[in-house]
Amino acid sequence: MKPQVYNFCAGPAMLPTAVMAKAQAEFVNWQGKGVSVMEVSHRSKEYIAIAEKAERDIRELLNIPNNYQILFCQGGGRGQFAAAPLNLLGDKQSISYIETGEWSRAAIVEGKKFASAFVHKAMTRDSNGKVCVEDSSLWKTDPQAAYLHYCPNETIEGVAINEVPQTDLDLVADFSSTILSQPIDVSKFALIYAGAQKNIGPSGLAIAIVRDDLLNKAHIDTPSILNYTTLAGAGSMYNTPPTYSWYLAGLVFEWLKDLGGLEAVAKLNQAKAALLYDYIDSSSFYNNDVAPSNRSLMNVPFTLQNDSLDAEFLKQAEENGLVTLKGHRIVGGMRASIYNAMPIEGVQALVSFMQIFAKSHE
Ligand code: PMP
Repeated sequence: MKPQVYNFCAGPAMLPTAVMAKAQAEFVNWQGKGVSVMEVSHRSKEYIAIAEKAERDIRELLNIPNNYQILFCQGGGRGQFAAAPLNLLGDKQSISYIETGEWSRAAIVEGKKFASAFVHKAMTRDSNGKVCVEDSSLWKTDPQAAYLHYCPNETIEGVAINEVPQTDLDLVADFSSTILSQPIDVSKFALIYAGAQKNIGPSGLAIAIVRDDLLNKAHIDTPSILNYTTLAGAGSMYNTPPTYSWYLAGLVFEWLKDLGGLEAVAKLNQAKAALLYDYIDSSSFYNNDVAPSNRSLMNVPFTLQNDSLDAEFLKQAEENGLVTLKGHRIVGGMRASIYNAMPIEGVQALVSFMQIFAKSHE
């Protein structure tokens, strides 16, 4: 029997247990056909039905307007760091970037290969000394830029921008670590993209949601595999897509619909995050360095007041079935990633463990 383990990994992250069980039940004998989904042709009518249903379901979940393409891409989130400029620059020379942490920085590094980057560093500290992001009305942007790129949820620092930024530029957002965790007003965006391995499915797949009028502008040298117009024209099957990941993503979308859609999912996520942040705030043993208004509901970094206890904390957590709590090497400390698939019982178990650990080490 599988031991009770709660996996707080930032990605690849845990997938919903019900989805894993369904995939397992169908693994070698999908729909009684005697083969696995991963063994059938992506051109078969059975597979096309899976692929189209997944697309319909994510459209319904995110309420994606009809004038947006949903592309199932390869190359993960980073692939999109290059795909976005290659497809959207057109005859413009520059991209406005908002820098709020490691992932927006990584997007800038890649974007500079294709355009000049106008970078606004929006991280600051509030009057309590907590990390926060400047209000978007204060962001400096290049009015000549092809678009404004930002990252609504910095996975490493646990910093979120909860409002859709105010801008006259086309808005491009890396939703890798927050997609499907709450409703999004897609109509405010030119392009939304996300690597799959947090709230969508297995790694490698990425989803790009792009407004129709932005197609047909790709740089002539854009590799076909990154070209949104090519992908849209081929139903995301220009080459052999990651069929099994797409199928699993479809199972995740069905699971989200069964939960009641993204409004319901958002409430669950708020409750989970509140449990953890409230405990951290009530304790002098643990600390989260982010201002409440910019706290991520998906990634909760925290430190122990005495960091010489970090290794012991992680060891004991693991012994208690609470795994992958080590913070990213860049920021240290701990990080609990609590994506959609993490049940509230997992967060309760974590908080109970943190309480016991604090009591025995205070
Ligand atoms: N953007 C964000 C916000 C991420 O968290 C990650 C991965 N953790 C990436 C981009 C990169 O994704 P990938 O590893 O799929 O390229």
